[in-house]
Amino acid sequence: MTPGLHFDPIRLPPQCDALRAQVRAFLAEEIAAGTFDPHRPGGAELYNRAFSRRVGAKGWIGMTWPKRYGGHERSHLERYVVTEEFRAANAPAHLHFVADRQSGPILLKYAAEHVKKDILPRICRGELCFCIGMSEPGSGSDLFAAKTKATKVDGGWRVNGSKVWTTSAHVADYMLALFRTSPRTEDNRRHGLTQFLVDMKTPGVIVNPVYQMSGTRGFNEVVFDDAFVPDDHVLGEIDGAWKQATSELAYERSGPERFLDTFQVLPALIRALGPQPDVRGAEGLGRLVAQLHALRRMSLSVAGMLQAGKEPVVEGSIVKDLGTIWEQKLPARARELAAFLEPEAANRATLDEQLAFATVIAPKLTIQGGTTEILRGIIARGLGLR
Ligand SMILES: Cc1cc2nc3c(=O)[nH]c(=O)nc-3n(C[C@H](O)[C@H](O)[C@H](O)COP(=O)(O)OP(=O)(O)OC[C@H]3O[C@@H](n4cnc5c(N)ncnc54)[C@H](O)[C@@H]3O)c2cc1C
Repeated sequence: MTPGLHFDPIRLPPQCDALRAQVRAFLAEEIAAGTFDPHRPGGAELYNRAFSRRVGAKGWIGMTWPKRYGGHERSHLERYVVTEEFRAANAPAHLHFVADRQSGPILLKYAAEHVKKDILPRICRGELCFCIGMSEPGSGSDLFAAKTKATKVDGGWRVNGSKVWTTSAHVADYMLALFRTSPRTEDNRRHGLTQFLVDMKTPGVIVNPVYQMSGTRGFNEVVFDDAFVPDDHVLGEIDGAWKQATSELAYERSGPERFLDTFQVLPALIRALGPQPDVRGAEGLGRLVAQLHALRRMSLSVAGMLQAGKEPVVEGSIVKDLGTIWEQKLPARARELAAFLEPEAANRATLDEQLAFATVIAPKLTIQGGTTEILRGIIARGLGLR
């Protein structure tokens, strides 16, 4: 393997099998009760507070966090199993997922003790939705160009400016945001940003919708008009947030959710091609499944590194890059393999429905969480090539 790159082979321990069975049984009950339809493109209502509370009650949010903050002190590999089962079943986990994946771990590391004690147990109970306030008009890939300004005042900070592409801001209770607290310095262009916990009910925080071509309202513009953020909601080092943001992105980029957004196309294709596909269909399916298997092994390996307390920034970027390209190409490949099927063939209609949805969401996959070009820059740097 290339020096500096580590993808240790990881096998899921036996307790993961028992957990997987419990998760599947829970999801089957939810499907039977009509909470969501696993075959409906895009799932059900994305944000389901009652469902998130039931997931919290099962102990499947904050699984790896300390018990004193409401967590369950389980492994990253167990968390991996829950994440992949939820994704594969199309379960509506949007409400709690960002808090579970990245906001909670950042709060655990950098928030004041009383803030952790207040907020982390509520995340674990499935009560809180978080959004990520990084991108701005004019600073997406280049986070360190952020201009939204936090100015020191008595007891806290006054914030002015705007964030954009903020997923879930319209339902979120809190945002973890990067604001400019000082100008960059000549020798460090990353200097001057601070991370804040923002209560979305704060006066002066205005959320405007940005609709996607899939028809869903996934993300938003968030305007800060003299919004006040108290001192105890500063996270970590003032002016030094670039290190925190980098580690947050490692969490954001490493999970199985990064290659399962269009996954529903694959079982729909398998059903449509039937039990005895022709040679071309069998060969095409074989390749897709083999590629997915390799991605999963790599992604599991990243979960193993998180478990070992490492920050697998380069390996996570490789999985995200390869994974999003795979899930982006899947609809086109499935369309080719199913091209010969009669319009009235069994299961064709469901496949077409999945394909239509996957095709309109595909363009975003290689942008969200870091574009392909940016990830390749990180990988090149990690390999010592730039
Ligand atoms: C579905 C979705 C959800 C999102 N959710 C959130 C969210 O919740 N919170 C949030 O903060 N942001 C979110 N984003 C924003 C996302 O992180 C940014 O769109 C992304 O970082 C790209 O930034 P940009 O759109 O400003 O494009 P730009 O940075 O302007 O990039 C435009 C093009 O130039 C390329 N490019 C830019 N810089 C370089 C470079 N140095 N080298 C090579 N090529 C380069 C890029 O790869 C891209 O192709 C979301 C985006 C999507 C699509």
